[in-house]
Amino acid sequence: MIRLRGHHLLCLLGYRGMGYSEAYAENMTRVHDQLRRRPETMVMLTAGPDDLCAHFPPDQPYHCQDANVHERDAAVLRRLGLRVGGVVAWGEIERRLAAQFVPEDIPRLCCTCPWLAYGVCEDGVRRIRAGEGLYPVLPKETDHA
Ligand code: SF4
Repeated sequence: MIRLRGHHLLCLLGYRGMGYSEAYAENMTRVHDQLRRRPETMVMLTAGPDDLCAHFPPDQPYHCQDANVHERDAAVLRRLGLRVGGVVAWGEIERRLAAQFVPEDIPRLCCTCPWLAYGVCEDGVRRIRAGEGLYPVLPKETDHA
């Protein structure tokens, strides 16, 4: 079971291997890769800090409890028809994301996010809507599924 907060469901679509630190990115790559290979993985939806936030580097400004980040979580879950405490397979989350979000939603929802300018999150939404799934972050030779 992986614990995720609302807005991280969107962040995972845009994930390309970048992160706040090496340890943060290593953990996020592991989570992302598991969801990509095994969409039957169950996800528990949390209010606030989750399994990705758990690796946020202590030497950087902590934003995981900021009000605007909580608001983004709530907005994403509301749009998906999901609730904090719910347990849902990643594949079902992907299906709902594809049905409920368009790339243009990202700048509207995430105007304060430092990763917005890379454009990868809009592309992640486009991919999921096109049925292409999560971007394969790990090189092909490591595929073992
Ligand atoms: S712009 Fe930021 S908050 Fe929004 S989906 Fe991308 S990484 Fe997540």
